[in-house]
Amino acid sequence: MNNYFIILASGQSKRFNSNKPKQYIIYKNKPLFKHSVDKALESKLFRKIILVVSNKKQIKDKFPKNVILIKGGKERSDSSLIALKYIKKFKPKNVLIHDAARPNFSLKLLKNIIQLLKDNNAVIPTINSTDSIKYKVKKQLFNLDRNNSILTQTPQGFKYYNLCKVSFNQKIKIQDEATLFINNNLKIKLIKGENTNNKITYKDDIKDNKMFFGIGFDIHRLVKRKILYLGGVKIPFHSGLKGHSDGDVIIHSVIDALLGAMGKKDIGTFFPDNKKKFKNIRSPKMLKPIVEMVNKNQFYINNLDINLICEQPKVSKYRDKIIKSLSHLLKIDSSLINLKGKTVEKLGLIGKEKAIACDAIISLTKHD
Ligand code: ZN
Repeated sequence: MNNYFIILASGQSKRFNSNKPKQYIIYKNKPLFKHSVDKALESKLFRKIILVVSNKKQIKDKFPKNVILIKGGKERSDSSLIALKYIKKFKPKNVLIHDAARPNFSLKLLKNIIQLLKDNNAVIPTINSTDSIKYKVKKQLFNLDRNNSILTQTPQGFKYYNLCKVSFNQKIKIQDEATLFINNNLKIKLIKGENTNNKITYKDDIKDNKMFFGIGFDIHRLVKRKILYLGGVKIPFHSGLKGHSDGDVIIHSVIDALLGAMGKKDIGTFFPDNKKKFKNIRSPKMLKPIVEMVNKNQFYINNLDINLICEQPKVSKYRDKIIKSLSHLLKIDSSLINLKGKTVEKLGLIGKEKAIACDAIISLTKHD
C-alpha cells in the first residue's frame, strides 16, 4: 500500500466571489476540503494524505498522524510540485492528485484508480461534456465536436516516478497533471469519471437550500345537517363538521403546517373566526392565499404526510380522491402526499363519532 493522496486546497478561488477561500466554506456540514480528507482516510488506501494549503494556521481541525499539512505555492502547478517533492523521502509508488474543490468523488473511484495503476502509468477519470464546446483562436470561433471531446476530472492517479519525470521539468502553468502526460506524448489510461464529481467553482454551485418543517393539528365536532368536507372533497356521511368555516380538518391542519414551516404564525391570524367575512367559507378558499404565500416566498413543498383521526368514514375509501384534491389545491404531484387513517378504539368523542381530528406535517425547501 505505497499510495499517497495529495489534496490541493491552496487555491485563491478567484471565481468564487467570497471573502472566505472556497476550500474552507461549509459544504454539507463540513469544510469543503475535509470531504476529500475524510474520504481518503475512510478508503484506507493511502499511507499518507498530503493536504496542501495556503495557510496552515487556517486549519483548525485535528487529523490523524497520516494526514500532513504543507504550504502550497502561488499557482496550482506550484502546489502540486511542492507536494510531489515533499513526498519524495517516503519513496512512494503511486500518487493520486486531487482538487479539494471536488468533494463528491466516490470511494469506488479511488479503488478503481489504484487498481488500474498496477498496469498503467497514469489513470485519468473523464466525463463527456453535456454542453456544446467552442474554442477561440485569436478572434475566430471554432466548434469542437462534442463526441470527440472529453472533460478530465480529479483524482488523477500516477506512478510517482513517471509523474516526477514530467513534473520536475515543466515550464508552463498546468490545470491538471494529465496535461503533462499529454504534452509529453505519454500514454494515459482514461476511465469513466463521475457526473456527480463536479468541481465547485462558483458560489452558485453550492447553493445551500434550507429545509423547513411545519406541523398542524385540528379537530371539529360532527353535527347533523352539515355536509362533510375532508381535504376539499364532499364525503357522504351522517354528519358534517361544525365550524366557522366548512370545518375541513385536513385543509386546516395543512394550512397550519404550511404556516408553521414558513414561520408565519397560525390559521387564526389569517382567518379570525369572529370575522363575518369568513363565515361558512369553503376551506380550499382559505388554502389558496397560503399556497400563493408559499410560492411568493420562494418555498417549494417536498412532501406532506397526514393522519386523519376518526372512526368513520373509512379513509381507504376516499384516500385517492382526497389526495387528488390536495394535489390540485397545493399544485404538487400527488406522489408527494400521504394520507393515513387512524381510529381511536372507539374512545372519547372521536370514538363515538362526535368529532374528527387531523395531524399534518409538511416539509418545505427554500430557494436561496
Ligand atoms: Zn378547523
